Amino acid sequence: MFIDSHCHLDFPDLAANLDELLLRMQENQVTHALCVSVNLPHFPRVRALAEAHENLFASVGVHPDYEDQIEPEADELADLANHPKVIAIGETGLDYFRLTGDLEWQRKRFRQHIRAARKANKPLIVHTRSAAADTLRIMQEEGADEVGGVMHCFTESWEVAQQAIAMNFYISFSGIVTFKNAVALKEVAKNIQLNRMLIETDSPYLAPVPFRGKLNQPAFVRHVAEEIAQLRAVTIEEIAVATTDNFFNLFKVNRNG
Ligand SMILES: [Zn+2]
Ligand SMILES: [Zn+2]
Repeated sequence: MFIDSHCHLDFPDLAANLDELLLRMQENQVTHALCVSVNLPHFPRVRALAEAHENLFASVGVHPDYEDQIEPEADELADLANHPKVIAIGETGLDYFRLTGDLEWQRKRFRQHIRAARKANKPLIVHTRSAAADTLRIMQEEGADEVGGVMHCFTESWEVAQQAIAMNFYISFSGIVTFKNAVALKEVAKNIQLNRMLIETDSPYLAPVPFRGKLNQPAFVRHVAEEIAQLRAVTIEEIAVATTDNFFNLFKVNRNG
């Protein structure tokens, strides 16, 4: 069985075909998926997905690319996370690629999320792009290691991965690892500790080969696992078992729902 540790099933393109996507998951042994929140106005629909479906979970947070949002306070985020199906805080983090200029607001927002995670005692889902040094520094300064979490859609170096792991974090690989030009990332996926690895789709974005350019969906997470198995010269079952165990360990959820 496989778990998609990061997707956005509430986004309109996916939400419109939810029944079909759940069926495709079932056909591909993708047993669970974590629906990740990107802003608070839409959080209720993310939570509703997790409430309506036993095998879906939710997170709560405000994405660093969503600039025009009311800034969330740690207390508010921690309160919203106080729900049995809300298993993480995020996605949060820093993105110096999509946005430029004075991004102090991103760093402040990230700190609020880490404080919320510590208050709620739930792990973090961290998005980092062109901002690895600041991301790690703020994680360190705010004590993110106390709750741990996942570096989602990982595209950074081996060194960044090891520093995150040293802070009690997991590394999650998306469809990017299947792309031909992702040479350095393939090396990270080949050599990283198996007990620290997660897999995800980040759907609707980043569909893996052979669906590159198409609308992504949780069922495709199997192709991420397949690529990693090939890189490591192990069976896909080994990757499935490890990443599934890692998911349940990190998010402290009962495998039987
Ligand atoms: Zn992200
Ligand atoms: Zn995402």
